Amino acid sequence: MAPIPADMRQQVIERAGDRCEYCQAPLAIVVEMEIDHIVPESAGGPTELDNLCVTCVGCNGFKLAFQEAEDPETGEVVPLFNPRQQDWVDHFAWSDDGTGMVGLTPTGRATIVRLRMNRERMSEARRLWVTAGWHPPR
Ligand SMILES: [Zn+2]
Repeated sequence: MAPIPADMRQQVIERAGDRCEYCQAPLAIVVEMEIDHIVPESAGGPTELDNLCVTCVGCNGFKLAFQEAEDPETGEVVPLFNPRQQDWVDHFAWSDDGTGMVGLTPTGRATIVRLRMNRERMSEARRLWVTAGWHPPR
């Protein structure tokens, strides 16, 4: 994998507004962040601003080189959410208590499952963030 140039990396981080671009985890809290190739390098995805996003370690670790997943509601295989080409609010929402992500579209639902965005540890973390006023983001 080619290293991401430092200035490009900085641009990606600044654009993300200090949140994981998939699960919106506040990066000031989760501490470790990674730069994700939305289309993986192994699938020919370029190291360019339009193909990069900031993720928490959890999202990136579960996304791996996947580009699509099954919508749990229909069984249809659909593309994962693309933070460069799609708007987060079109595909996701928060549960009333702020601890769970809700998929609004096939892509939203499939991405939640593939990246395990509602795993127990994330929901527990969000519960604390809600208490602290860090979550959900406005
Ligand atoms: Zn995340």
